[in-house]
Amino acid sequence: MSTDAGIPLVNLRRQYAALKDDVAAAIAAVLDSQQFIKGPAVRAFEAAWREALGAAHGSGCSNGTAALSLALQALGVGPGDEVITTAHTFIATAEAICHVGATPVFVDIDPASYAIDPAAVAAAVTPRTRAIIPVHLYGSAADMDAILEIAARHGLAVVEDTAQAHLGRWRGKALGTLGDAGTFSFYPGKNLGAYGDAGFVVARDAAVAETIERLIDHGRQRGSKYLHDVVGQNQRMDDLQAAVLSVKLSHLGGWTGTRRSRAARYDARLKPAGFKVIEPPAASEPVYHLYVVEVADRDAVMAALQARGIGCGVHYPVPLHLQPAFAEMGTGQGGTGPGSLPRAEHAADHVLSLPICGAITEDEVDRVCDAVLAVARPAGRD
Ligand SMILES: *Cc1c(COP(=O)(O)O)cnc(C)c1O
Repeated sequence: MSTDAGIPLVNLRRQYAALKDDVAAAIAAVLDSQQFIKGPAVRAFEAAWREALGAAHGSGCSNGTAALSLALQALGVGPGDEVITTAHTFIATAEAICHVGATPVFVDIDPASYAIDPAAVAAAVTPRTRAIIPVHLYGSAADMDAILEIAARHGLAVVEDTAQAHLGRWRGKALGTLGDAGTFSFYPGKNLGAYGDAGFVVARDAAVAETIERLIDHGRQRGSKYLHDVVGQNQRMDDLQAAVLSVKLSHLGGWTGTRRSRAARYDARLKPAGFKVIEPPAASEPVYHLYVVEVADRDAVMAALQARGIGCGVHYPVPLHLQPAFAEMGTGQGGTGPGSLPRAEHAADHVLSLPICGAITEDEVDRVCDAVLAVARPAGRD
């Protein structure tokens, strides 16, 4: 273990120290097999992850961004279509919409949960709308009852971006299994992280799942090597990543429990002091990919915490409707500039992510809280 007294945002070194021998054995088994693509390690992880989710259909893929565009493409979303999503997310959510030739329509958030606001979604539906991408940001669910109802009313597809919410639940069902499709990232820092890039796509419908499976692997006809039904891609998961993921999956439930209890400990110190934190919907079981608090003068607070050896981050500082990359696109709410999505903009200006992971100790959380209470003030509601 590290001798330095700092507390990283995510302690992957400590996690690795506890897994080292099992990971080495799993990697050695893949090396011995010399099957690196579409081998048994990928098949085993795919089956295990489907079972963990209670999902009938789903395939491993190369990363969480590809997972989103594969899901959209398989659901028939393409040029001329609008896809409604939240302005307060990682840019990959919206990139994937552009990758299939569709147009992202950014809407505001529910400030309690930080997830997409269903009322804003309903207001943004046009005759061109084809899909909604709710993001279960920070490991806290979007309001899936309301989103599924809006989708059913207008005949829209729902793709859940579950990159931050592995094993989170909504009314007892795993996030990622409620919509037409659900996508996961296994980027190293996610709740379930590979040692490289990897992702997963769940689909409710067997035919959509089969299309996704084909798109992932060059559009190959099942059982055939050089007969291609559709123009596909190469977005496969590889066996080394799958082997690492299978080792880690057996620990994910325990790590998730630790995240929840550490989040409760943060809540107990920070809420009474007046700090706004994530307020997950009552129907959900959050998994705290990030622990987020709103502070005044955020960038100065971050610098002060970092000076005390406390890792922190901002997820995310610039909402998507204000990103230069999307300057030409509409928000669906009558305006593209600053002020058009005020709740997302308020969050972007004030959110601060504090250290949390499956390996952080209670004592470390207490030390972070002491530091936050010493250097930060609650953000006003501007
Ligand atoms: C990480 C992340 C992605 C992208 O996943 P990659 O595996 O890095 O491509 C997409 N959406 C959200 C919300 C994420 O946090």
